[in-house]
Amino acid sequence: MTTLGKCKLCEQQKELQKSHAIGNAVFKKLFKTMSGKGISLSNDDKPIQYSSDSWAEPQLCKECEHFLNIEFERYSLSVLRGQKGFIKSSGGISFINIDQSKLIKYFLSVYYRAALSSQKAYSGIRIIKSHHKLLKEVFNDEGKLPSCEFHIQLSRVTDMSDEKGFSDEAIKEIISAPFCRVDTVRKGSITVCFMFEGFFVEIFVTGMRIKDRHSPGVLKRNKPILFVPYIDLFSLDGVIDLMVENLDKYEQGNHFIKD
Ligand SMILES: [Zn+2]
Repeated sequence: MTTLGKCKLCEQQKELQKSHAIGNAVFKKLFKTMSGKGISLSNDDKPIQYSSDSWAEPQLCKECEHFLNIEFERYSLSVLRGQKGFIKSSGGISFINIDQSKLIKYFLSVYYRAALSSQKAYSGIRIIKSHHKLLKEVFNDEGKLPSCEFHIQLSRVTDMSDEKGFSDEAIKEIISAPFCRVDTVRKGSITVCFMFEGFFVEIFVTGMRIKDRHSPGVLKRNKPILFVPYIDLFSLDGVIDLMVENLDKYEQGNHFIKD
């Protein structure tokens, strides 16, 4: 079945591809790891389903989808999966000799596609018009991201509880739909968060305060080294809420998962 429509990146009328905000490559790996039992977490009322067909809808044309995947996603996933090397220390992991500008664009492309998606899993995610225009220019290399706009902070998720119920491998298999957090202390500060590949990703849509921009895990486009601190899985309220909610759905039989 083909879907004609206006591509949400190049804005031309074209045949649209099923676009995953969190790319197919992530879902594919998850699906393989769990031998067909990859499960994704979302806060919609749909039954829990296998992640291979989660949260996709036609949004971009083939060229634009391909462009985002080749330019940003492929590189970023190889970094995050440790294929470009990393150093472990007691406080976190360091990636060395990496191009952080590609990672920044990758995470922003996840946000962009989630915000423009009409899927319920992404319903809390919005984008303002000026950001929409700015990101389109940034992806196409027609504009630069001003240093005050959009900051991204990465943390490596690990189970720091005494029970150690979740191994690092199990944590890598958790994928959460992006959700929005509003900072109650700093009014008007909006962060879009999601978890995948064992990382907790926070996109500061309204930007970070200058003094916070040097915190560990904040991406800097001109720096070749990125230190990503560990964070405890159970400190991630949004993710834990989703896990509990989805466990409830599962127990009520609201799922397509074969036991
Ligand atoms: Zn296009």
